[in-house]
Amino acid sequence: MKTKEKTLSDKMNDEFAKDFEDGTIPECKCHRCGAELNNKRIVWLELDNETDLFHKLEDFPEDGISQGCFKFGSACATAQLLETKMELEDGK
Ligand SMILES: [Zn+2]
Repeated sequence: MKTKEKTLSDKMNDEFAKDFEDGTIPECKCHRCGAELNNKRIVWLELDNETDLFHKLEDFPEDGISQGCFKFGSACATAQLLETKMELEDGK
């Protein structure tokens, strides 16, 4: 039997689901637009304090300083990552 390896985002989702269900975290909103999110379909992005840019958890730069993980809807996550990409290309 094959077990699917959990990504970092999956682990964040699991942790969040627990806190959300027991009320530790009362709301589930998109960091970018403030829309209510389906708590089963969150996209987590990690903020680099050094550059103020968001990254996928898997792609977080080694020399970055994490300011924590934030919740996004999938469209907003895509837009946010595009901004990161453009910002990084600009800086080159
Ligand atoms: Zn959003």
